[in-house]
Amino acid sequence: MLLLRHNIVSHRKYVRLISQFKLPVSDCIPFIPPRKLHDPKACAIRNRGLVLGVYYNEHVAIDPAILTASGQKYDKEVSGKLWSMLKLTPIPKLGETRVFYDLDPKYAYVAVAGLGSECVTFNKIEQLDETKEAIRIAAAAGARALRGFHPKEIDVESFGNAEAAAEGANLAVWEFNKYRSHANQKVIPNPNLLLYDDCDEDGWKIGTLKAEAQNLARHLQEMPANILNPTKFAKIAVDILCELDINVEVKTKGWAAGREMGGFVSVGKSSVQPPLLVELSYYGADEYTRPIIMIGKGVTFDSGSLDLQSPKDLRYMKGDMAGAACVLAIIRAAARLKLPVNIRGILPMCELMPNGRSPKFGDLIYNANDKSILIRMPSREGRLLIADSLVYARNYWPKFIIDIGTMSKELLHYLGGAACACYTNSDELFRYIELASAHTGDRVWRMPLWKFYEDRVNNCETADVANTGLERYGDSANCAAFLKQFASDSQWMHLDTYNVGYTLGTDFPYLARGMTGRPTRTVIELLHQMIASSKL
Ligand code: ZN
Repeated sequence: MLLLRHNIVSHRKYVRLISQFKLPVSDCIPFIPPRKLHDPKACAIRNRGLVLGVYYNEHVAIDPAILTASGQKYDKEVSGKLWSMLKLTPIPKLGETRVFYDLDPKYAYVAVAGLGSECVTFNKIEQLDETKEAIRIAAAAGARALRGFHPKEIDVESFGNAEAAAEGANLAVWEFNKYRSHANQKVIPNPNLLLYDDCDEDGWKIGTLKAEAQNLARHLQEMPANILNPTKFAKIAVDILCELDINVEVKTKGWAAGREMGGFVSVGKSSVQPPLLVELSYYGADEYTRPIIMIGKGVTFDSGSLDLQSPKDLRYMKGDMAGAACVLAIIRAAARLKLPVNIRGILPMCELMPNGRSPKFGDLIYNANDKSILIRMPSREGRLLIADSLVYARNYWPKFIIDIGTMSKELLHYLGGAACACYTNSDELFRYIELASAHTGDRVWRMPLWKFYEDRVNNCETADVANTGLERYGDSANCAAFLKQFASDSQWMHLDTYNVGYTLGTDFPYLARGMTGRPTRTVIELLHQMIASSKL
């Protein structure tokens, strides 16, 4: 019999030893992880943390700091120890935290997160509900501060809005660790987040589902392009959506060619990875209710083709399927929230590579709209896919159409990462999404859909329309003007998300460096707002 000592032989070595000596597992004394030898009660305490809040109004001379109601209640339970210790430190401002240990037998550590001033509210100039944003930031700061202790469970107070607290905490603790081994020191299992001292379980659940949707979009964006090709994306869609009764249809290049999707076929044939059009249908209302159409650009790697992108930009091009990732996540969230709407997602998935079959400068293509299209720039491929999808979407007599995609790099210069660009032919749709984005903190900014830009893309030597203008600047608006011609008379909104797809982790305290999954929560909130106003 092979004897193994718990304290010196790791589980990995134990498995290796078994195979080395070719012993049946039953002949070995099983390895018991050291933590199981400890008192389970003590373990539970060590694995549990609590996040509370404190307001700090620097314009008030006397008593500028005050704990939240839940904070005060907890402070009473621990005989005022929390407040007396907090006073010894500089009071945390918005986004800062202080962590205290062993205040009571229930929690090993308590994080007090700063909420800033108690007096903030909806800020019209900022187009932002600053109360909710402060709650997201505080919940994120508290949960992230405790995450380093590897807790199994973190209780988070609502700070007055359970939904926003759940969003902030769930977005902040998420990490992309799929491809790290378990032995890797950087892997910290995600803690279980629970609502503390508040009965708004529904709000907490909605916030959690919205954040999980955004985290799903982030996950898909982060996946390496050699793994997440169109076929893998379709498989993931089948795996995670079919169990929620969402119908997933996967259509091939031949099917697309039969429907004269000239742009999709032209871009798709540039790669050895077969292009696929993934179509998702969620029925939350009766089958006769007109659907909302959501189109997502799904380029799993955008090399720029013959107009090859710079090495600096190519690093982020695995995320050029952000639109498709967002739409998939939105539809999954709609099903989990049981929203009473019908949604059809159209996701043209392909890879754009430079090779002998790549679209070339000056190529001419057609789509089912019977317009001839000049490919003035092969690297402006996303708009070709969306144009085909817009024409196809008309078959479903949609209530309205939203398309989402990373289209134009120059948005980084206009807006930074503050808001994605919104182009729409419907004032009503814009009012709803503007309001929704003020609530989520993931804002949109309306851009011009003027004839000025339409004239640019229609100024074309050999075709009816070109995929970009001759002018170098204004490409995001040129793209919208191009797409408008394929949306016809449908109520339509185009979200150009190039500038919000990736963050260095400095703009939003609840989003760490990496892919962002934006604007998933805003579109889910848009559906909520429209349902609440009986517009859907
Ligand atoms: Zn692209």
